[in-house]
Amino acid sequence: MNNRVHQGHLARKRFGQNFLNDPYIIDSIVSAINPQKGEALVEIGPGLAALTEPVGERLDKLTVIELDRDLAARLKTHPFLGPKLTLYQQDAMTVDFGELSRLEGQPLRVFGNLPYNISTPLMFHLFSYTQAIKDMHFMLQKEVVNRLVAGPDSKAYGRLSVMAQYYCQIIPVLEVPPGSFTPPPKVDSAVVRLVPHAALPHPVKDLRILSRLTTEAFNQRRKTIRNSLGNLFNPETLTALELDPTLRAENVSVAQYCQLANYLAENPPSKEN
Ligand code: SAM
Repeated sequence: MNNRVHQGHLARKRFGQNFLNDPYIIDSIVSAINPQKGEALVEIGPGLAALTEPVGERLDKLTVIELDRDLAARLKTHPFLGPKLTLYQQDAMTVDFGELSRLEGQPLRVFGNLPYNISTPLMFHLFSYTQAIKDMHFMLQKEVVNRLVAGPDSKAYGRLSVMAQYYCQIIPVLEVPPGSFTPPPKVDSAVVRLVPHAALPHPVKDLRILSRLTTEAFNQRRKTIRNSLGNLFNPETLTALELDPTLRAENVSVAQYCQLANYLAENPPSKEN
């Protein structure tokens, strides 16, 4: 049997389609989300409704965003879900989650077994709406979850860890083996919960600066920050900010990156640097 066909649908690689087929895993994810009537749940990539059905059973209404036209058409005519769904046949990267939250009159609870090919840019898109989001539950590559939760001094700690932890508290929920999907992905997966901070622990004045700083630091992660950030800071400034210039990108905490970004916001580097 063609293992790319699930419930009569041929899985499309370009849409990152790996459908959940494992009732125990599905049940565990729905329990972790714990949807309650009256809440504003939004699913990204409902696909063949493996999560949509059990979540929808507990709710009167549910918003779903599905890019694949055939799958969107199936959802529209789904026997019991159809009437409960507000369906956007759209790329989730183009969705204004702030507007969705205004329509709902409350912060959103976003979830999904994300297409792995766009999961990181999609999370960055969602981070720009964290004020409109109560929490998020996502199935991701296990390696991405490891990077999301990683702290300083570890190999997995990188730009994604810093930016995600700037916005959210991050809690791994469960690991999922390839056999729980049809077709099975080549990598292990894991579910993670991201809860936007009610108040940012280390607010920065300009996010673009934090973004640039972390890009420059981690693009050259084997270099000391004295070198990798040499065009932004001189070593004396790093020392004055209580940062040892011989540290590497992976030894600098989220709080310290934010401190550096705020210093730069007030002391832009001169052109000669
Ligand atoms: N939720 C289903 C499940 O768990 O079995 C399907 C998960 S599958 C990994 C990812 C789903 O996201 C597919 O249904 C795919 O068509 C959809 N998708 C892919 N790219 C998307 C995008 N940019 N915006 C919205 N949905 C997308």
